[in-house]
Amino acid sequence: MIYDIIIIGAGAAGLMCAIEAGKRRRKVLVLEHAEKIGKKILISGGGRCNFTNLDVKPENFISNNPHFCKSALARYTPQDFISLVEKHGIKYHEKKLGQLFCDGSAKEIVQMLQTECEDAGVEIKVNCIIDKIELVNDSQISETAFRITSNLGEFTTESLVIATGGISIPQMGATDFGYKLAKQFGLKLTKTVPGLVPFTLNEGSYSELSGLSIDSIVTCNNTSFRENILFTHKGLSGPAILQISSYWDEGDDITIDLLPGIDLVFIINEHKPNKTELVNLLAKFFPKRFTEKWCELNFPTKPVNRLLDKDIEMIDEQLHNWKLVPKGTEGFGKAEVTKGGVDTNELSSKTMESKKEPGLYFIGEVVDVTGWLGGYNFQWAWASGYAAGQFV
Ligand SMILES: Cc1cc2nc3c(=O)[nH]c(=O)nc-3n(C[C@H](O)[C@H](O)[C@H](O)COP(=O)(O)OP(=O)(O)OC[C@H]3O[C@@H](n4cnc5c(N)ncnc54)[C@H](O)[C@@H]3O)c2cc1C
Repeated sequence: MIYDIIIIGAGAAGLMCAIEAGKRRRKVLVLEHAEKIGKKILISGGGRCNFTNLDVKPENFISNNPHFCKSALARYTPQDFISLVEKHGIKYHEKKLGQLFCDGSAKEIVQMLQTECEDAGVEIKVNCIIDKIELVNDSQISETAFRITSNLGEFTTESLVIATGGISIPQMGATDFGYKLAKQFGLKLTKTVPGLVPFTLNEGSYSELSGLSIDSIVTCNNTSFRENILFTHKGLSGPAILQISSYWDEGDDITIDLLPGIDLVFIINEHKPNKTELVNLLAKFFPKRFTEKWCELNFPTKPVNRLLDKDIEMIDEQLHNWKLVPKGTEGFGKAEVTKGGVDTNELSSKTMESKKEPGLYFIGEVVDVTGWLGGYNFQWAWASGYAAGQFV
């Protein structure tokens, strides 16, 4: 059971790497512990897989070394993946902000990757539980090789690719296998925290608004996103919140502009002659349920002609600059990605190979590169998988 390349993890990055290495006529084996391949792809994008974004820049990724992702992203672009999708006749559409989704189902992306693997002669084994991986001297293939012991037997390879992803959504089969293996071979890790994750707020504050969403600008640590925020039973979610969560550290405050671009002071003054109730005026911009709760918590409603200048300033400030300190996040169980991972200083940005341990590669989410919401994480998985696939 000797292979040129063994890839651990049949997710987005692992399958892309397998296809590329297989196309180079290398003997490739993919080992997957789940009962089927691509499980995270299947649940992604609400079942429609937001497989890439039309506008991918290094600035859309978070890492201790923001330059690391540049090389791989430049060598495998969104257009490259779109060409593959089109080759397989998969219909897709842009939902918003360059985000490309399947018209049908994420199953089509997994089927496409499986077909490409078959065409490239890649062997895939599922239900494979790996017991240990060790370096051995094997004169049959080279001086040193990786020996994998598993419930399906022993496998040996010169090139071992770790594509086991992050630890978010453990119920989908996510494990810390990649991090443990990196440690075993002496590679450093950066701190791993949930990314693209809803915030929890202190009890009671806005929980009864659950389900309401409001177009907002959310800011934290000098980074801002304009999209919807969504009130939940536990706190806040929605695309703007998920995006900013990746820039948030425990204890940081976030600022929410609930009325982007609206000059509320002018509008209130304009309505003074009509004696409009504040709660009714605000209902022009927000769902009624929100304005009622907001007035109850922040400023009892009254006709706007009775508001003092300082009241108007306060209302304006509260709605444009709502500052809050989230209690925490909903954790890895709800996070779309894991921020942090294998330290990029340990890897070649060209090949994804470990600088310390020749023949050992890390690709995809297990590496300390985290994309924004909107197809960026898959683009990183495809691009890093492609990069390694050219060299393994
Ligand atoms: C709910 C949800 C929705 C998402 N939607 C999107 C989206 O629409 N667009 C986007 O860009 N990103 C999305 N993401 C993020 C995206 O899914 C990941 O960033 C991407 O899948 C990472 O690819 P990967 O190959 O590195 O890891 P994964 O796709 O997670 O693959 C890792 C593979 O390794 C296997 N594995 C783990 N441990 C072991 C082990 N010990 N032995 C053997 N195999 C193992 C896993 O079972 C899995 O098959 C979403 C994530 C979630 C959780």
